Amino acid sequence: NRRIVLASRPHGEPTPGHFRVERGAVPVPRDGEVLLRNRYLSLDPYMRGRMSAAKSYAKPVEINDVMVGATVAEVAASRNPDFAVGDTVLAYGGWQDFSVSNGQGLRRLDPAAAPVTTSLGVLGMPGMTAYTGLLTIGAPKPGETVVVAAATGPVGSLVGQIAKLKGARAVGIAGGADKCRFLTEELGFDAAVDHRSADLPAALAAACPDGIDVYFENVGGAVFDAVLPLLNDFARVPVCGLVAHYNMTELPPGPDRIPALMRATLSRRLTLRGFIVWDFAEQEPAFLRDVSGWLREGRIRYREDVVEGLESAPEAFIGLLKGRNFGKLVVKL
Ligand code: NDP
Repeated sequence: NRRIVLASRPHGEPTPGHFRVERGAVPVPRDGEVLLRNRYLSLDPYMRGRMSAAKSYAKPVEINDVMVGATVAEVAASRNPDFAVGDTVLAYGGWQDFSVSNGQGLRRLDPAAAPVTTSLGVLGMPGMTAYTGLLTIGAPKPGETVVVAAATGPVGSLVGQIAKLKGARAVGIAGGADKCRFLTEELGFDAAVDHRSADLPAALAAACPDGIDVYFENVGGAVFDAVLPLLNDFARVPVCGLVAHYNMTELPPGPDRIPALMRATLSRRLTLRGFIVWDFAEQEPAFLRDVSGWLREGRIRYREDVVEGLESAPEAFIGLLKGRNFGKLVVKL
């Protein structure tokens, strides 16, 4: 059983040295438990938070403990009457070949209904994040402009496509020409802006001639600076993620801009609301029903970036925080 543990806590960007590969015996399930062989491991930006001891909405991974993460797994041995050997399940198996579960929180997957990896992306936690945050907090109306960054990732790509289905105009922000082309040509976004372009504020303003009504915040940093002047009266900002900040060790230099943000919030009557996907747990059935339907009807598309082998996980994860992935990042074990 190979497992990747947290070797030390990064200050700033993680490096491969913050992780360690260990080998050990395959665990043995006790009464009521199942042995899971992890087939696919999801890599997600929130894992950077788990590497840190800073106070957050979830507990950190302890030093020398296995890195956490969602997996698609096969039941390899069962002492739980609810699961049979060979069942495929969505689990929280972590960065390792095998894990043991008492069955709680496992979701059985039907490989005939959809490719199993979709349970980690478009039909999983990231997809539900897009669906709930956009529809409940963003609430786009037909004709409004919705902007989202990290737009080719599993969250952003679904935000833009659902915005289109609701009759809004979707503008995606992504890193590089290939990702921008993918947004307009494959996903049907109305416009795409490269956040590395020389003049991001001007490029974004040109892509949003009627301003911005919903900004789905995935990124923060320079992208938010470009968005803020364009927000219309009564704009909604679901604050979902701040990936540009996750490796920051201190506040950026410069003047205190909180007064300007608060002034904009007041005078333009903005709504900024942070959320964690599980705040909307009761919407899971509606999410699964709607998004599965749209997928079947070919009204939404998704893209995966699959890397091979557990040992590739640290490098792939480090790359995720810098945009080296193109689509939902998954490790095939
Ligand atoms: P992605 O696959 O989209 O990966 C993150 C992407 O962020 C990168 O690919 C990169 O894309 C972009 N990025 C990184 N640094 C910067 C930067 N400085 N400026 C602009 N873009 C940057 O990840 P997910 O779709 O899984 O997650 C998207 C966001 O949603 C994250 O912030 C994540 O933390 C958050 N999230 C929040 C949840 C919640 O419950 N609140 C649940 C799930 C996710 P590019 O190459 O285009 O720059």
